[in-house]
Amino acid sequence: MDCIFCKIVAGEIPAKKLYEDEQVMAFADVNPQTPVHALIVPKRHIVSLAHTSREDAGLLGHLHAVASELAAKHELTSGYRTVINTGPDGGQTVGHLHVHLLGGRPMHWPPG
Ligand code: AMP
Repeated sequence: MDCIFCKIVAGEIPAKKLYEDEQVMAFADVNPQTPVHALIVPKRHIVSLAHTSREDAGLLGHLHAVASELAAKHELTSGYRTVINTGPDGGQTVGHLHVHLLGGRPMHWPPG
């Protein structure tokens, strides 16, 4: 197993855990881009959104529902952004599906 997020899920690499249930885990991004920057990941290794199908719709919805709950918990009342980077052009650097939850400051659009 050579996946850094699988190692975090397994407790082999430390992380600031923000949420966990049987399907997903959320932890603080080690290099935060906003005052609140969480990563919500499936415990099952899935490389990217491009490696999912309709059968994963429940899990994909759950990842976003957890993002919404974390945003509320962090009182991101003026808004936040959820991002899934996919593949090289999408800027994905870790090959384990993850939803970024970014908040705590205004953000611009479009991204770079
Ligand atoms: P992406 O570029 O969309 O693949 O996002 C990967 C994210 O994982 C980046 O924001 C990194 O800062 C973050 N990251 C990498 N290693 C760790 C780690 N050990 N603990 C927490 N976040 C990490």
